[in-house]
Amino acid sequence: MRKGGGFIAFLLVFSLFHEFSHASDTIPLSCMNKKTLDIRVSHVIKGCEKTESSLGAGAISRSLIRPSDLDKQVAVRFKAAQAAAKKDGVTIYIVSGFRSLNRQQTLFNQAVRRYRSINEASKWVAPPLVSHHPWGVAIDVNYPDEPVGAGWLETHGSKFGLCRVFENEWWHFEPVIAPGWKCPPLVPDARYSKD
Ligand SMILES: [Zn+2]
Repeated sequence: MRKGGGFIAFLLVFSLFHEFSHASDTIPLSCMNKKTLDIRVSHVIKGCEKTESSLGAGAISRSLIRPSDLDKQVAVRFKAAQAAAKKDGVTIYIVSGFRSLNRQQTLFNQAVRRYRSINEASKWVAPPLVSHHPWGVAIDVNYPDEPVGAGWLETHGSKFGLCRVFENEWWHFEPVIAPGWKCPPLVPDARYSKD
C-alpha cells in the first residue's frame, strides 16, 4: 500500500514537472527589432535574436539595488511603443523617467508647500521611498502639454507592457504587466503605489 502510494506520488510529481517544463517553453517573450523597432513574439527558451532587444516576459519590478538610470527594458518598451505611435501619427516622449532620491525629495517638498498637506501632496508626488521613479520603473509621458499622445499609450501600451496606473495622472506609466497582457484597473493616486 505504501509502495503503491509512493509510486502514485512519483507519477504525480513527474507529470506536474512535465507540465511545468512544457509550459515554460511556451511563455511568450516580446522582442524588438533594433532597426525597424517592430515587435515579434518569441518565447523564453528561444529568447530574442542578437538583432533584437528583449521587452521581457513579465512585469518589470524594481531591482535589488538602487539604479542610476531608467531600467533598460523599460526604455526598450517605450522605444517600441514610440515607433508604433509614430506609425499612427502620434508623438510620445518621456518627460521624466529615472529620478534620484534627492530629486524626488525636492519635488515632494515642493508639492507639500503647494498643497499645504503631506496627504494631499502624496496624491500627486510620492515621497522618495514610495515613488517608483527613483527605482527606474516609472515614466511620465507627454506631461503637461500632450495628453492625446499619452492617451494613445494608455490604449495601446499593454502590447508593450506599459500601463497607466493612476486615475489622477494621465501621464504616468509603469511596466506592471508582461507585454500583451491586460493592464490592471487604475488605482486612485500615488498613495496607492504598490511596493
Ligand atoms: Zn510619474
